[in-house]
Parts: sequence; C-alpha cells; structure tokens
Amino acid sequence: MKVILSTEELPRKWLNLAPYLPEPLEPPLDPQTKEPVSPEKLLAIFPESIVEQEVTQEEWLEIPEDVLKVYSLYRPTPLIRAENLEKYLETPAKIFYKYEGVSPPGSHKPNTAIPQAYYNKISGIKRLTTETGAGQWGSSLAFATQFFGLECEVYMVRASFKQKPYRRILMELWGASVSPSPSDKTESGKKFLAIDPEHPGSLGIAISEAIERAVTSKDTKYALGSVLNHVLHHQTVIGLEAELQMKKLGLYPDYVVGCVGGGSNFAGLAFPFLKHKITGEKTHTEFLAVEPESCPTLTKGEYRYDYGDTVGLTPLIKMYTLGADFVPPPIHAGGLRYHGDAPLLCAFYHHGFIKAKAYSQGEVFSAGVLFAKTEGIVPAPESTHAIKAVIDLALECKKNKEEKIILFNLSGHGYFDLSAYDAYLKGEIK
Ligand SMILES: *Cc1c(COP(=O)(O)O)cnc(C)c1O
Repeated sequence: MKVILSTEELPRKWLNLAPYLPEPLEPPLDPQTKEPVSPEKLLAIFPESIVEQEVTQEEWLEIPEDVLKVYSLYRPTPLIRAENLEKYLETPAKIFYKYEGVSPPGSHKPNTAIPQAYYNKISGIKRLTTETGAGQWGSSLAFATQFFGLECEVYMVRASFKQKPYRRILMELWGASVSPSPSDKTESGKKFLAIDPEHPGSLGIAISEAIERAVTSKDTKYALGSVLNHVLHHQTVIGLEAELQMKKLGLYPDYVVGCVGGGSNFAGLAFPFLKHKITGEKTHTEFLAVEPESCPTLTKGEYRYDYGDTVGLTPLIKMYTLGADFVPPPIHAGGLRYHGDAPLLCAFYHHGFIKAKAYSQGEVFSAGVLFAKTEGIVPAPESTHAIKAVIDLALECKKNKEEKIILFNLSGHGYFDLSAYDAYLKGEIK
C-alpha cells in the first residue's frame, strides 16, 4: 500500500526548525581568531542567499519556482507501507517508509543539490566544487548543476572511487569532472599523498580539497551535501510530504527513524514532526537517529567545537564529533563515514528531543537483505541502518503487543552497491 501525492501537493516552503531550539545555536567560529565567523567569510565559499538561509530565524522559506520544476521530476516521493516486512516479523506495528530512492541519482541528496545549484546560478557563479563519499552527493550535484548550466568538480574519497566506479561514471555522464581524493590538484591533497600515495581518503580530506579549490578559483563556489543548516532546511521537503501523506491515512507516527551520516535525511524527515512535539501538539512521538558502530558520532562523540574538515580550513562548529582527524574504517555505508553531525540536529539531540543508536555492519546488512526479500527494494547500505532499528522497534512492539506506527526514511536505493551485498552474501562481512 502506498500514498502518492500529485505535483500540485508538493510543499511550497521548506521548514527551518532553528527558531524552535530551547536556546540559539552557538555560532561557527573562525579557525584563526576563534571569534564568530563573519558573513563575509562565508560569502567566500557560498552565495548570499545560501548564507542568509544558514543564519535566518525565519520559520518558513519559500521554494523558488525553478527549484519546484526540477523537484517535480521525481517529487513528491511515495510513502509506502512495508506490509510484507510486518507480516514476516509478525508485528502488530505498522511500518511506513518514505522512499527517496526514486530520484534519478537514487537518494534524497538532490533535494538540496537542486536549490544549491539554483542559488549559485542566480548569483552569477560558473562552477561548483564538492566532495563525495560513496558518490551519492557528487552524483546529485552533477545531476542538479546540469539544469542550471554550471560546471561541477568533484573530489571523491579514494576508497569509494575504487569500490564504486558506477557512481563516478554517473557523475561523468552528468557532465562533472571527478578526482580521487586525496588528489594532487590541491595543497591539502598533496600533503596526504606524501604520507601514502594510495591514501584511502576520508570525507574530511575531500572537503578540504573542494574548499581549497573554491577559494582559490574564479567564479567558483563550494556546495556541501549535509551538515549545514540550509541543507537540513531543504531536506524538510521529505517530512512535509510525509506529514501530508500520513494525514491522508489518518495516522501519525509514534516513531520516526532515519540513518545519520551528517544528519540531513534524518532531519529532513523528522523535523516537521519534531516541531509538533516541541509545540506540544503531539508529544508521544519518539525520534531515533541511527549510525554505524564504526563511526558512532552521536552515541560516542563529544559535544564541542571542532573543524568540519580534516585540515582545519572550515570554521569550528559546535557538534558531536569523534575528532576532525578521525579516519573511520572503509565500511560500505560510505555516506555515514563522517566525524561530525549537523549542528542543528546535534542541538536537538543535546536537549534530549532525539535518541541515537549504533549498529554493526553485519547487523545492518542482514536487515537490508531481509528488506530486499520482503519489500523488493534493495536499500542503500546507509539506509539499512534505519531498517535495522525499525526491525528492532517492530519486534519490541510484538513483545509488548503494541500497535505502534513506525515511519522511517529509506534514504536511497542500493543498486550501485551490489558489490557490498555480494561481499555480505559471501560471508565477507562480519
Ligand atoms: C549521503 C547519504 C546518507 C547520509 O547523509 P545524511 O546527511 O546523514 O542524510 C544516508 N543515506 C543515503 C542514501 C545517502 O546517500
């Protein structure tokens, strides 16, 4: 069973949840002076309208017509009830998922890539640089920049560049140029290549490279696929659609679950519902952020100021962090290998509105395989973290004979990750 919305029902505004924080976000700090970063500094890497969205306390942000047009290529996305999975688990819980894998790049990431490309275009920018882990963000930005006539330069974590050639091909097909990171194109990259010519890379290193290129090249800016406030705002289109879809069914979730790499797909689904919890309209809903045991940012990290990248080019941001120099093992869920998390999400977590849980790679792959067998869709390795948590919740409902409503974000499909599933099926993932 699924709920499909029409193009006319696409949300016209994004939600900014920052005004609902119990206390304001602590500002990003300049890495040199340790003073709050001036907007001018941010303008060196982002266009004005993005910087505005980053700091605004406006609750609702208008989605531009040109963005809605590109959104409508794949949005609204379906809300699907996982009835076969429910039956298999013999749970009285009702499990729903918002399926973001229907976008052409196969994940939720175009939801922010499209507006970011748009805002850069209208401010006269010619080229965007970025980093990518598993390749989902790079392919989303490559996809988005085409519609607005921008060039796209991607630094791809070397471990993924080797493991996932299809995503590189997809980026090139959509007109982007892709370099394995660390690369010899930047001073930051060269430093790591000197240590190890086959350095596996990390998102932090790739971010350093992309930012260096943006600040040292003309008409070039940088685009980030997660973590920052504006990215989270853009992703709320997911939760706003889901809210309407649940409403059409006369239902409201008891649990809202998502995997967390930098926090954008989870926040995108959760924030519209979290708003109702904060305002006291719906107080019973629980929010669960799920991460890998090998990169346990929320569950094991410290809440403090840290760099967003490895080299120390970005402002210091207040977030849960494993340390900017943390290089996680090359797990298959490349999109969850980030040492920090979105400050906005971290603040709500810090204030106790959100819970977090971590799972091992073996556990999440077995959940992913069960999902593929029961529901048909092969989930992205990142999304299997949410699925594992949902299965555990559904089994708890079975034990307690509770008919709860569980909503989760199936943030992407795993059809470019079949070699990871192959490794799992061969028993190579413990
Ligand atoms: C990038 C990615 C993630 C992790 O990023 P968030 O910002 O935490 O959402 C999760 N799932 C998929 C499919 C991704 O591509």
